[in-house]
Amino acid sequence: MKIAILGFGPSGSVAGALLARTGCDVVVLDEDERPALLVGESLVPGMIPVLRNLGVEDRVAQIGVRKPGVTFHPRPEVRVAFSFQTLPAHHPQYAYNVPRPGFDQILQQRALESGVRHLKTRAEVRAEHDRLLLSDDTLARIEHWRGKQPDLVIDATGRRRLSARVLEIPADLGPRRDVSHFAHFHGVQRESPEGQVAIDYLEHGWAWRIPLRDTVSFGIVLPQQAATHLGSSPEERLLRTLQNNPQLGDGLAEPQRVSAVQTYANYQLISRKGVGANWAAIGDAFGFVDPMLSPGMMVALQSATLLAEELAGAGSRRDQLDRYSTKMTRMLRAWMELIAYFYSGRIFEMHQTGKEMQNRYPRLPLHILEKIMNATMAGMASGFTTESPFPRNVLRSVDRFLVGAPEKAGLFAVA
Ligand SMILES: Cc1cc2nc3c(=O)[nH]c(=O)nc-3n(C[C@H](O)[C@H](O)[C@H](O)COP(=O)(O)OP(=O)(O)OC[C@H]3O[C@@H](n4cnc5c(N)ncnc54)[C@H](O)[C@@H]3O)c2cc1C
Repeated sequence: MKIAILGFGPSGSVAGALLARTGCDVVVLDEDERPALLVGESLVPGMIPVLRNLGVEDRVAQIGVRKPGVTFHPRPEVRVAFSFQTLPAHHPQYAYNVPRPGFDQILQQRALESGVRHLKTRAEVRAEHDRLLLSDDTLARIEHWRGKQPDLVIDATGRRRLSARVLEIPADLGPRRDVSHFAHFHGVQRESPEGQVAIDYLEHGWAWRIPLRDTVSFGIVLPQQAATHLGSSPEERLLRTLQNNPQLGDGLAEPQRVSAVQTYANYQLISRKGVGANWAAIGDAFGFVDPMLSPGMMVALQSATLLAEELAGAGSRRDQLDRYSTKMTRMLRAWMELIAYFYSGRIFEMHQTGKEMQNRYPRLPLHILEKIMNATMAGMASGFTTESPFPRNVLRSVDRFLVGAPEKAGLFAVA
């Protein structure tokens, strides 16, 4: 089977590697001129099996920092920590924080080793009903295909969403209209234990601290209007956030920015259609939920894996693509449901109410409930059980029991 993959980011690389392994003739097109700094530095444990399957975990460990969990600070003095060590022993109980360019290179290298051919060019496509065709110029560059269109086109162009644009497919937008700025810093506080990612809720929005080997990635996510109030430039907004929240500094030196600043906006969107007669979208090109809980790279790698699995499965091509699309939509929706608990603040209300009940009724074995909740959260936020009905129902029931009707909550309601 001849497959053209548009985009050599993480999803395109993994799809390429897995499909080339099965004997497909895979060509990836990407001019590959990306900035040195990219979001997607905090990974989740659910990605580790994919990295192991590709045989690249050792390489990732060499450039990354082992991530044992995530600590949330709903207020500066409150600390709600989740550890991946509460995951069952048969799952990896850690993840990594990685510099994106290095991580992407590892996946690209693996794809090339698996037999993928990379053409350093920007792909152009045109629509023909529900089909995606490479433009004559793009096709001519793949000499060994001698002018024949591929059997399958995989759109891995990320937020550029080439297939959706060309085929005029609308997207469902998420409820938030946030802007995010981020950069690498010295002098920003590292959370303990080492490698732990920190999420700090701010007066408006939230901030991430992702410890890397030599620096800390610091990013802010806030509604557009609140961003304008913080300053006119992204640099000013990051600096002002650090000045207004001295607990984010390491107390030893003034936070110092050591990279350029990158900005992202309006990224919550899911395509209404992610597959067609001869094409499928993977990773961000299909949909992106939100940076909270870092599901992006997991979804990117998982979508590539799901598509490769379905293409090796039974049924017609259309059946395979439809099954892939259903699974991908289910995965994105499950992450949306989980992330909503963190934006509404209900997850912290559950935590706080549980603690208060333990104090009030010390004879009741309520600490068991806390343990169950921690394990449930770790399983879902790691990507292993995000879609599983049982933990989702545990979370829904505990939420209803401890916090009550939805209108009572709303500490961090959607802007
Ligand atoms: C603010 C923010 C913070 C985030 N933080 C995290 C995090 O901590 N952890 C995490 O897991 N995820 C995070 N993400 C999400 C993560 O960055 C993405 O989900 C991930 O990069 C998706 O990978 P991808 O392969 O689908 O797309 P991309 O990484 O965007 O790759 C797309 C590729 O397609 C290429 N391309 C585009 N157009 C064309 C064309 N016409 N022809 C050929 N090639 C083309 C591009 O050059 C690029 O190489 C964050 C996202 C945002 C917005």
